[in-house]
Amino acid sequence: MDSIFSSDIKYLPGVGQGKAAIIKRDLDIHTYGDLLQFYPYRYIDRTRIYTVREAMTDESLVLVQIKVRVERMGAVGEGARRRFVVVARDATGYVDLIWFNAAKWVTDKIEVGREYIAFGRPSIYNGMLSMAHPELDIPMTGASKRTMSMYGLYSSTERLNRAGVTSRNITRWMGKLLEMTSSHIEETLPGYIIERFGLLGRRESLVNIHFPQSAELLSKAQYRLKFEELLILQLSILRQRNVRVVRGSGLVFASVGEKFNRYYNECLEFDLTGAQKRVVREVRADTRSGRQMNRLLQGDVGSGKTVVGLMCMLLAVDNGYQAAMMAPTEILASQHYASVAPQCEKIGVKVALLTGSTKRGERREIDEGLRSGEIDILIGTHALIEDSVKFANLGFVIIDEQHRFGVIQRSKLWTKNEVEPHVLVMTATPIPRTLAMTVYGDLDVSVIDELPPGRKPVKTLHFFDNRRLQVFGFMRDQIDKGRQVYVVYPLVKESEKMDYKNVEDGYESIVRAFPPPKYATVIVHGQMKPQDKDYGMNVFKRGHAHIMVATSVIEVGVNVPNATVMVIESAERFGLSQLHQLRGRVGRGAEQSYCILMTGNKLSADGRKRMEAMVRTTDGFELSELDLKLRGYGDLEGTQQSGNMLDLKIASLGRDSELLQMVRGVAEAILEEDELLASDKNSRLLEAVRASDNKDKTIDFSRIS
Ligand code: ADP
Ligand code: MG
Repeated sequence: MDSIFSSDIKYLPGVGQGKAAIIKRDLDIHTYGDLLQFYPYRYIDRTRIYTVREAMTDESLVLVQIKVRVERMGAVGEGARRRFVVVARDATGYVDLIWFNAAKWVTDKIEVGREYIAFGRPSIYNGMLSMAHPELDIPMTGASKRTMSMYGLYSSTERLNRAGVTSRNITRWMGKLLEMTSSHIEETLPGYIIERFGLLGRRESLVNIHFPQSAELLSKAQYRLKFEELLILQLSILRQRNVRVVRGSGLVFASVGEKFNRYYNECLEFDLTGAQKRVVREVRADTRSGRQMNRLLQGDVGSGKTVVGLMCMLLAVDNGYQAAMMAPTEILASQHYASVAPQCEKIGVKVALLTGSTKRGERREIDEGLRSGEIDILIGTHALIEDSVKFANLGFVIIDEQHRFGVIQRSKLWTKNEVEPHVLVMTATPIPRTLAMTVYGDLDVSVIDELPPGRKPVKTLHFFDNRRLQVFGFMRDQIDKGRQVYVVYPLVKESEKMDYKNVEDGYESIVRAFPPPKYATVIVHGQMKPQDKDYGMNVFKRGHAHIMVATSVIEVGVNVPNATVMVIESAERFGLSQLHQLRGRVGRGAEQSYCILMTGNKLSADGRKRMEAMVRTTDGFELSELDLKLRGYGDLEGTQQSGNMLDLKIASLGRDSELLQMVRGVAEAILEEDELLASDKNSRLLEAVRASDNKDKTIDFSRIS
């Protein structure tokens, strides 16, 4: 559909070719329609006057307006440091208004004893509030329309600013754009929804999101736009599921058979936890229902997902189907094979391992075994999804550590059969419920929220840097008891300031405190050659080193049960999910393990919350929820880019989780009545959903840190 909204932004008065090119590249804004959906990231409320105390204590304020009376003023300092300072106050405290190179109009305009409204960026200096180069107005008389209204700030970068794409210019362009287009803005939500939820119309919302007429209208506009965005997202995800259900039927695993029962009675060396049993029951119910299963199984490291996966595969085998299990690396695939194959042999189930390094001859044998149906279970890596791998009747697929596999790879497995096999996706990355609901909205979710009995939860302690000697003492005690210690530093990046200890300095200071030959220390970080890295890891694994100094590379794949202490340096620099993953490296043996978080003495409020959370809980889900709340979705992903994959322009999965849950319910109710959005009254929704379907909604969870 061609409309004014698909016009190229270069035609917008004042933008022009050059700026348009930069806007397209840096902001991914190409058309009038795109620009209209580029919302301010925050608003300056010039209808609100703060007190000096508020301006000093509320860290979230970027620009504030205070009403103060001038007490005295004058020039201070010499030479380049010379500045003009106006000391003013309100009932709650003092402020220094500062001008460097004060122009005459400033010094002439200000009178001692008079009241002004000062608007600017608050900063605290020597325990005093100050404001450099504020705008000054005289209350009421000087209050122009501009100073007594609300306006939005658009996010910009150094580069954009240099090219003239400033927040101020965007505001100007937006004004033009709305003038030209507002009469063309059409409603996208059906009338019955607008009415039922008392939503602001689309046109009014777009006008107010950019130029709020009042705080109340702004919040209504935000609500409406978030509501719409989340509703379309949920409808799109849920409708896809309906399309799938309507289209295809699932394989039916009618009964629990001999292999499953024999494994349970003869091979299992422990009792399943309640959570494990529940997941097996959920899978059992799905696979009996005649509907194709797509289930996400979340469970922390060590919660026992593999056994559950194996039992599900045996269920398939009992019902005459083959099963496959795909792992992200060869090491993991081999580990699975080594733990699964011997037990399966006992109960007469044939398992094969297929990876990139499987030899030709062996590979041929496997191909034959798969086609003839002689092989019951295939374990492997990406090699599994190659087109040449053909099964006789694949019925069940497990994808371990899903975050490494995209949706496209997942669907490649489905095409290996006429009828799609059941799919169980297993992951140890705790994914917040809201995110799971969105990104994996088409999957049902099972959770193993219980660790096998007898595991001692890791004890977590937070120390400030000045208590390092005490921490060293503790490390010595543990080493004397025969245990090993990790010391982890944030990644080495050249651009980072010197005050962050990098791993090499860290290594030297550890070696000084733990000198050889009594102590052996290895270092492992991402910038080493792979063979050096492997060497260091192996030395530690074999117990030939007491301490491993590392960057977060050790997050992946290290399993040393004898290591009982994880010291994380500059812990405030890590996100909660990453801290949690690091902590998961200890607590793998029978001994009590410890995680020690070291931070600088000055901690931001945010940093303190993270440390407190780590000390308080070992629940990965709770931590991931909190992480999302503290850092927001964009940061969770680490890049703007991946935030764009979900294409959320205004809603935040973290902050708007309640709205998301509510809207999810609305979407479910709509689809309950109109499965595929085919009815007339939902035609606007269908149009919006179709547009949204064209975007890929996968996220690479390995990038969550
Ligand atoms: P993950 O969920 O990280 O894949 P694994 O499946 O590798 O965890 O299980 C971790 C360890 O816990 C394995 O050695 C496994 O045998 C053991 N385990 C699993 N379930 C139980 C249980 N219910 N009781 C005791 N040990 C268990
Ligand atoms: Mg596992």
